Amino acid sequence: MLERGEVANSWRRERWDSLRLLTPNWQSRLPGLRYEGPDPDGYMTMQEVTELVERLAKVSGAPVRTGTNVTSVRRADDGYHVATNRGKIRCRAVVIASGACNQPAVPAFSGAVPESVEQLTPFGYRHPGQLPDGGVLVVGASATGVQLAAELHRSGRPVTLSVGEHVRLPRTYRGRDVLWWMDASGVWDQRYDEVEDLTRARGLPSPQLVGTPERTTLDLNALTSMGVEMVGRWAAVRDGRALFSGGLRNVFSLADLKMRRLLDTFDEWALTSGRDAEFEPPERPVPTPVPQASRLQLDLGSGEVRTIVWATGFRPDYEWLDVPVVDAKGQLRHEGGVVDSPGLYALGLPVLRRRKSTFMCGIEDDAREVIEHLAQYLDTGR
Ligand SMILES: Cc1cc2nc3c(=O)[nH]c(=O)nc-3n(C[C@H](O)[C@H](O)[C@H](O)COP(=O)(O)OP(=O)(O)OC[C@H]3O[C@@H](n4cnc5c(N)ncnc54)[C@H](O)[C@@H]3O)c2cc1C
Repeated sequence: MLERGEVANSWRRERWDSLRLLTPNWQSRLPGLRYEGPDPDGYMTMQEVTELVERLAKVSGAPVRTGTNVTSVRRADDGYHVATNRGKIRCRAVVIASGACNQPAVPAFSGAVPESVEQLTPFGYRHPGQLPDGGVLVVGASATGVQLAAELHRSGRPVTLSVGEHVRLPRTYRGRDVLWWMDASGVWDQRYDEVEDLTRARGLPSPQLVGTPERTTLDLNALTSMGVEMVGRWAAVRDGRALFSGGLRNVFSLADLKMRRLLDTFDEWALTSGRDAEFEPPERPVPTPVPQASRLQLDLGSGEVRTIVWATGFRPDYEWLDVPVVDAKGQLRHEGGVVDSPGLYALGLPVLRRRKSTFMCGIEDDAREVIEHLAQYLDTGR
């Protein structure tokens, strides 16, 4: 196992200080390791996740070579040539487990933002004290965007949130964590070959969730009542002005509709499994109200906004992969983790084999099936 940094590198280096997992502790299980502490419904801090992954490395006895950066993987007659900063390796098979979120995805028009405005990505952001005083424009309203918008607003800065397509979820539903419902109802186990539109499912943004001891719901309604201003999706920069789309009504109603459908699925499962009486009665969160008039532009040179935080998602980095298996959008071509080159495999990508594939608790089931294929390949060459 080659790791360019330390064990749990992404949790140590690429997350902000206040972040907690959005999956509850009982769900943050790794092969052979289950949460046994006093707060199964709580959410781990980054320090706690790092310790968990370190413990797994130790108890599993995994042969991890830290500080080993893979700079190239090339196909050879009998397998692959792997080049690293610590020498070369030849192997018959390679599993790409380098993560789905190696780089923040920032739109190209960020280059047209005036220099007087600071720009940050979630990889550079640690805490509000880093930012100059004054207004902040947070771009993107998925898990990262809503969490940073709330934190920056609490620090006393006026916050504007640019909202595109998003996934709205209540933190708890009928007395249970919403991710408990995803697990129990089987939604998370839905397989990649049963999903109607796989490309769309793989590109879905992360749900608007935050892990707090109070189990708070952090949707757009919560942010609006805090005083965060909503604007539409940021479409372009023209003459130093940010231009936002006017389609907030559609974006809000689509997210509300999808949330209601998902809650319907949970209710249906509760009834058909005979467990309905165990839970509080069904409820529906109030729809997201559309602001009377959302601003369509913002003068970036006016001093109103001093910092832009790009919470516009992440993408994988395959710069080091010299095998032609990456598509024009920068995504790996694979069938359930079996990459389009003999002996090459992947794990930890969105809906790799199941809807839960990118969550820590989802990788184990995928790994079992992918490794079964790999073992057969090593045995038979097919
Ligand atoms: C902001 C954020 C919040 C998240 N919250 C949750 C959550 O609450 N619950 C949850 O279950 N999941 C969460 N996730 C998803 C989480 O990242 C995955 O569950 C988990 O980290 C995936 O593990 P992984 O090992 O596949 O990828 P990663 O954790 O990304 O690990 C990949 C490793 O590969 C190393 N690497 C990359 N390229 C190279 C190279 N060329 N050479 C050598 N090493 C390399 C990296 O240094 C890194 O350590 C979150 C993700 C993000 C970005």
